[in-house]
Amino acid sequence: MLSYWEKESFINYDYVIIGSGIVGLSTAISLKERQPTVRVLVLERGILPTGASTKNAGFACFGSLTELLADIEILGSEKTLELVNERWQGLQKLRSRIGDEALDYHGFGGYELIRKAELPYIEQIDKVNELLKPIFKDPVFSLVNKKSKAFGFNQKEIKALIFNKYEGQIHTGKMMRSLLAIAQQMGIEILTGAEVISFDDSSTRVSVQVKNTVTQQPVEFKCGKLAICTNAFTNQLVPNLDITPGRGIVLVTKPVPNLPFKGVFHIDKGYYYFRNEGNRVILGGGRNLDFEGENTAEFKINERIETELKRQLKEIILPDVPFEVDHVWAGIMAFGANKAPIYKAHSEKVFLGVRLGGMGVAIGSRMGEKLAEKML
Ligand SMILES: Cc1cc2nc3c(=O)[nH]c(=O)nc-3n(C[C@H](O)[C@H](O)[C@H](O)COP(=O)(O)OP(=O)(O)OC[C@H]3O[C@@H](n4cnc5c(N)ncnc54)[C@H](O)[C@@H]3O)c2cc1C
Repeated sequence: MLSYWEKESFINYDYVIIGSGIVGLSTAISLKERQPTVRVLVLERGILPTGASTKNAGFACFGSLTELLADIEILGSEKTLELVNERWQGLQKLRSRIGDEALDYHGFGGYELIRKAELPYIEQIDKVNELLKPIFKDPVFSLVNKKSKAFGFNQKEIKALIFNKYEGQIHTGKMMRSLLAIAQQMGIEILTGAEVISFDDSSTRVSVQVKNTVTQQPVEFKCGKLAICTNAFTNQLVPNLDITPGRGIVLVTKPVPNLPFKGVFHIDKGYYYFRNEGNRVILGGGRNLDFEGENTAEFKINERIETELKRQLKEIILPDVPFEVDHVWAGIMAFGANKAPIYKAHSEKVFLGVRLGGMGVAIGSRMGEKLAEKML
């Protein structure tokens, strides 16, 4: 049972946001930027944000050539262009909000490693560059095959290398700490260990029930409007949305002396990705080895995928350089029939910004901005 004081001071808000990932925090910050006097509460079930935002690989990217061609097949050219534009705008928003130094942003560019199977895609570089012209003045993708040898990749496997000068990399931990700090400086309240179990929007004010592990009696928060930013975990609150959780496995090596490359790298339509982090290598992916098994919200390591990641590192990425794997982790993404996020009003008072897919670092800030505008 709550005290009079708790009821007076802790329960009522103008806006409640569920989830403190990139989208939840960006939504809260965008709301406060537009209306500085409103009371905003973020409810996070984890001690830390516990989904994708603190677990990702820190690519500041908007789609490799083969990925965009796959998107065009499903979404069509116009919608793919729209999606790239949102990702690009989101990245600019993130960089201007946090600053490149605090983000540890490096614009080393991005590359796609082309194996024999992807060689036919190269013929479509001009077509995709033309499509992207309204966003980027210059051509986005160009062939830089000679660099592949200098980077030390296995030349028997890698037949071509595509460069994209607009891609960069960030330090994911610094990004999330910065977003939390900005939110707190603005007076946004954040409660962690606060799992929302249900909400009810049938009265004038929305009621949000939060699990209480101390008294076992849920705490009921009240707000004018509610934003659900729970990405892969949304079906527990709003069933029947087209959202499938997708686990991603990532590993990081110990520092590799004289690491021969810098930048972010994509292989096989984005199913594998790696980058330098200083002189370490971060490598992730492999969901396509076991789609069914990886459609899960469990933070476990799939050993088959871990083994394949280590094989790719040894045989393709660092064939001539000794390395040691330092750490392996898992994060949970959200996917659906296509890569466009779900961004909509669920009711007059409840709003959804979910299903961010594999490029939420890019699109997350833009999603928060749009969601805030919809809520206001
Ligand atoms: C392994 C991996 C690598 C990735 N690499 C990249 C990359 O390099 N570049 C890129 O752009 N994107 C990448 N992504 C994708 C990107 O991280 C996500 O798209 C983005 O972080 C999604 O942000 P979000 O805020 O929507 O979701 P999340 O970060 O998942 O946040 C949702 C939050 O909601 C909380 N929550 C859930 N249910 C409840 C509840 N009932 N009550 C309270 N809180 C709740 C969760 O604990 C979580 O903190 C990667 C993702 C993964 C998993």
